[in-house]
Amino acid sequence: MMNLISRAEWGAKKPTADYTRLSSTKGVKIHYTGGKVAADLAEPGNHDRCVEMVRDIQAMHMAGGRGERYIDIGYSMVCCPHRRTFMGRGAHALPAANGAGLNSGHYAVLALVGSSGLTEPNDDLLNALVDAIEYLRERGDAGREVKGHRDGYATSCPGDPLYAWVRKGAERP
Ligand SMILES: [Zn+2]
Ligand SMILES: [Zn+2]
Repeated sequence: MMNLISRAEWGAKKPTADYTRLSSTKGVKIHYTGGKVAADLAEPGNHDRCVEMVRDIQAMHMAGGRGERYIDIGYSMVCCPHRRTFMGRGAHALPAANGAGLNSGHYAVLALVGSSGLTEPNDDLLNALVDAIEYLRERGDAGREVKGHRDGYATSCPGDPLYAWVRKGAERP
């Protein structure tokens, strides 16, 4: 069962403009943070730090940290190693994280693992990712594809451990 954190619950800022509506997508692309994530983030007492990270990512995206000011966090949803799923732009909204021209094809789901520190997704994170994928299929008419950011775009994202899971079918552990 999905453990969803609403935008109000994580303290999201309001988008600065209306989302572009997406009627459906081919599926979902999986992302990681690309930076250092605290090695002990997954410990049970550390979920407050996940909430801080999501707020920081939204602030960075809206401040132009990815080259242009985004109207909101770029991701459709964000998943953490405590099996929680944060609402991002959500279903039927164009994300901004897949790269130019690639956002209408797939929703974008971020996993809170990085390129150093915490790099391996635990089972709770993988379950949260499947929760998000199922949600976007049910509520957002996402198709069956599950891919990585690196599919069709030059990036290391979502990192080798997560990409291996995607390639094996993105199944529950
Ligand atoms: Zn990515
Ligand atoms: Zn967490």
